[in-house]
Amino acid sequence: MRGALVRLTDAWTEILRRRSSGSPDGAYPLPVQNMLGEMVAAATLMQSSIKFNGSLILQIFGDGPVKLAVAEVQADLGLRATATVIGEVTAGASLSTLVNVHNQGKCAITLDPKTRFPGQQPYQGVVPLFDDRREKLEKLSEVLEHYMLQSEQLDTTLVLAADDKVAAGLLIQRLPLQGTGNLAGRLVSQANEDEIGLNEHYNRIAMLASSLKREELLTLDVETILRRLFWEETLIRFEPMAGDTAPRFACTCSRERVSNMILGLGLEEAQSIVAERGDIEVGCDFCGAHYRFDPVDVAQIFRVAGDLPPSSTAVQ
Ligand SMILES: [Zn+2]
Repeated sequence: MRGALVRLTDAWTEILRRRSSGSPDGAYPLPVQNMLGEMVAAATLMQSSIKFNGSLILQIFGDGPVKLAVAEVQADLGLRATATVIGEVTAGASLSTLVNVHNQGKCAITLDPKTRFPGQQPYQGVVPLFDDRREKLEKLSEVLEHYMLQSEQLDTTLVLAADDKVAAGLLIQRLPLQGTGNLAGRLVSQANEDEIGLNEHYNRIAMLASSLKREELLTLDVETILRRLFWEETLIRFEPMAGDTAPRFACTCSRERVSNMILGLGLEEAQSIVAERGDIEVGCDFCGAHYRFDPVDVAQIFRVAGDLPPSSTAVQ
């Protein structure tokens, strides 16, 4: 079994601070804040467990007052998050009343490699917000456990919690069998695993992990949580990530990226925006940065692009 526990404080409050001070919409309604915090904690746990060299992007496309919620974690655990809220959020709103009112809500996990081969698309897995009996799921942890089993063939138990100071999560995963069993991977038969007793061990530890309460996860330190849950188990603990290697707030937006986006609009569209508004201003939903391009800047973007050699590899 492998486990990981994340407890985000500074990184999480930085996300909330930027939202409340930088966005015209102001702070998130409480239920949205808590859902987004759970997403950030979960995405951090998943990135550290998959160790993907690129960004892991956890998105919920909602059909309720929350249209979109995004948590993105880079390979170095730099992270950012944002949510688009349109409409009334009632106090204590559940997951389904936030994002799955009309059964159209979806959750997507995208793995976008740092360097892509030509033509390579990011990998995306989509999971429904329903269980096997078509009941709406009310816990993000259940949605993601489903994904880990489907896409990564990993039995996973997740406990998530967030408030305005902490975003935290505990992940327990059953490791693939060691040695030859590991090479056989998914071919290991159910009967075999039962014989070895792996299910029993996993079930016991998963049950202990699930007994962790929201308040405990938010308020207790790591030592206390591990002692309370797993005092009868053999634990090997790794050094906690701290300082530069710890998860932290980091936005990947830049003036250059926005320039490329304007380039993507095409000259005609860009010029019509400039004609209408005097300049092009783009705000970053993640960090609140504003990028302003006046008519000279816009002309420059297209002139530079025009000067560049064509990207085709054909001999000119
Ligand atoms: Zn940004």
